[in-house]
Amino acid sequence: MNFREFVLKHENTIKPLEKQIALAHWGGATTGSKRDYDKLSRLQFKVEEVYASREDFAFVGKTREKGDFENEMLARTADILYLRYLGKQTDLSLLEEITKLASGLENRFNVFRTEIEGNELTQNDVAGILAVERDSTKRRLAWEGHKRVGELLEEDLIRLVEFRNKTAVKAGFDNFYSMSLYLTEQNEDDLVKLFDNLERITREPFRAVKKELDIGLSELYGISEERIMPWHYSDLYFQELPPVASIDFDRFYKGRNPVRIAEEFYKSIGMQVGDILARSDLYERGGKSPHAFCTDIDRCGDIRILCNIKDTVRWMDTALHELGHAVYDKYIDRSLPFFLRIYPHLCLTEASAMFFGALATDPLWMKSALGLSGEEVDEIAPAAGKALSAKHLVFARWCQVMFRFERELYRDPHRNLNTLWWDMVQKYQFVTPPPGRDKPDWATKIHIVTSPVYYHNYMLGELIAAQFRHYIKINDLGEGSENNRRIYGNQAVSRYFIDHIFHEGNLLPWNKFIEKTTGEPLNADYLASLFVKGKD
Ligand SMILES: [Zn+2]
Repeated sequence: MNFREFVLKHENTIKPLEKQIALAHWGGATTGSKRDYDKLSRLQFKVEEVYASREDFAFVGKTREKGDFENEMLARTADILYLRYLGKQTDLSLLEEITKLASGLENRFNVFRTEIEGNELTQNDVAGILAVERDSTKRRLAWEGHKRVGELLEEDLIRLVEFRNKTAVKAGFDNFYSMSLYLTEQNEDDLVKLFDNLERITREPFRAVKKELDIGLSELYGISEERIMPWHYSDLYFQELPPVASIDFDRFYKGRNPVRIAEEFYKSIGMQVGDILARSDLYERGGKSPHAFCTDIDRCGDIRILCNIKDTVRWMDTALHELGHAVYDKYIDRSLPFFLRIYPHLCLTEASAMFFGALATDPLWMKSALGLSGEEVDEIAPAAGKALSAKHLVFARWCQVMFRFERELYRDPHRNLNTLWWDMVQKYQFVTPPPGRDKPDWATKIHIVTSPVYYHNYMLGELIAAQFRHYIKINDLGEGSENNRRIYGNQAVSRYFIDHIFHEGNLLPWNKFIEKTTGEPLNADYLASLFVKGKD
């Protein structure tokens, strides 16, 4: 069998499996049906079995080494398949054990309820308390109550990390963190350098934002600045900007339908999303997942989003965001071979989603989308710009913690992780640890279980989105009007996205692709231009 024949045969095995996986996932998320979730893990295991084949892995490896491919597409396919196989060259029983451990942990996290004075609170209830409660003691109790889930998960989570490391060592890597980056074509040293640079760029601007924020919080809670504790921020991890430092965008969206606004906007730039919305599940319903996501069921046009739309800025952002993923999938060249008919890396589809999602708080976009007057735009623009910069800084510093902590976790799961976590929170977020606290607070961040070695991609997504914005600006794709950054109704912007980004699929590794579409390698300068004066 030659390689072309191998790929066709392999496609015939994988294509139907991936479609069934996407359908089971959709079924589970829209109905909460346990049958769908069980089916999902069975199907995922079937795919792992396919990629565990030593024989096929050896064949792909040899073909790749020889290198004389009929064309570029087959060469790229060989790289993609090689990495898919490489990650599964380990004990199947170990992979099964990992799946079981991870789903057990996720389940325990989901059913955990915070107990306060005999009441059982969901995570949403806790978030509600942290959003509005003025009494410091009540805030502390809610925060501490939620963090108890860490003690329930800690032991198994460390076991999960050990098992994941074991699979990585069997496949020839130092640890699971390094392996996961390698399998997604990310270079660990480059990533560390990028995060080091980001740390330097954000440190002083963040210090200023944090100072101003703490002054606001100390007034709000009637305590001195030194007594501000982690529970005084509105988010459990201080990953978001507290409302006290932002402006009230919700008032502009009250009584409006974010789905219709998003549909009109995408239409205005020449992207049709009506078919996607018709297949989607958009509004709240019992038993349905409370989150949001986009899924491409078959890489043949069956693209859907799941949302729980409300008339708030958060859901406006989310509707634009999920449709930003959806239009990427929709406008990929359908004639590309199956394994190339996808974005080069998750950070690129995330960048598209973030580019469009961010429009929800862009006064100029709101002017067109909501019919705001020029005076209204002038009134909110300075505060909106300041809030945007602060929001990016808060998130960037939090990402430092997640990126560095998770990396250390896999490098040595037996060091004192409780201390490591709070050292990092203090170092990067400037948050004072509660005195004498020695609890596994790190184990409460469920992403470590459900999306391992992934968090840094949110940061990359923001950086890439900023780089796209810069490219659009300097190439005057904003068509010269209103500081040449008009996006609403701007066909040149959508032509750039469709023809130069979406259409290309996975023909190039993600970093080369960014260089090709923006004219330079990925860097932190354009995000930095938001909060460093004199840049850009
Ligand atoms: Zn996303």
